[in-house]
Amino acid sequence: FLTGRRKATEVAHAVWRSIVRKGDTVVDATCGNGNDTLALLKMVADQKGQGCVYGMDIQDSAIESTSSFLKMAVDDDHQGELVKLFPICHSRMEEIVPKDAPVRLVAFNLGYLPGGDKTLITVPRTTELALQAASRILSSGGLISVLVYIGHPGGRDELNVVESFASSLPIDSWVSCKLQMVNRPIAPVLILLNKK
Ligand code: SAM
Repeated sequence: FLTGRRKATEVAHAVWRSIVRKGDTVVDATCGNGNDTLALLKMVADQKGQGCVYGMDIQDSAIESTSSFLKMAVDDDHQGELVKLFPICHSRMEEIVPKDAPVRLVAFNLGYLPGGDKTLITVPRTTELALQAASRILSSGGLISVLVYIGHPGGRDELNVVESFASSLPIDSWVSCKLQMVNRPIAPVLILLNKK
């Protein structure tokens, strides 16, 4: 999945595909314009109408953007119903994901909404709380995927928080990895946390 000039999001999607199965429950913690939400929907939607994507974003405009993008991209109404969108902070994900749902993946794509207000970005404190929440709801064998952009002000501080969280996870129950392009110093960094 590293060949060619692939975008960081495509690399992340390739990793998700190796973990996520039809019928799974997954979380998009930063819906933005809905590209990741759609990719996740395609991975989980099965013929029996199972699979679920819980999506959230702090900005109402992002939820509206994701909702209209999905309406345009998904022609099967029933599939569209597998996505549940919430205009809330991702630190509150435990309030919307049912306790008995085994969550296979929680995806974060940090930073600002492309095409939106660049001052409205994810911030270290709530990102950390959201990572803690994600680690609690994730099922065994599941993955937390965090794409961290470091080219904007505050991006490196956020990377420090994500790395510090990743390195604090106990080695008997977590595998924490970091994927970084060493010859592209400001390329986004992908942190992958696999719960054993
Ligand atoms: N996944 C998106 C896509 O495929 O288009 C891109 C996400 S964009 C890089 C980051 C998003 O995080 C923005 O839409 C922003 O509003 C959202 N965000 C910022 N703080 C947040 C928070 N505390 N909780 C949830 N979403 C947040």
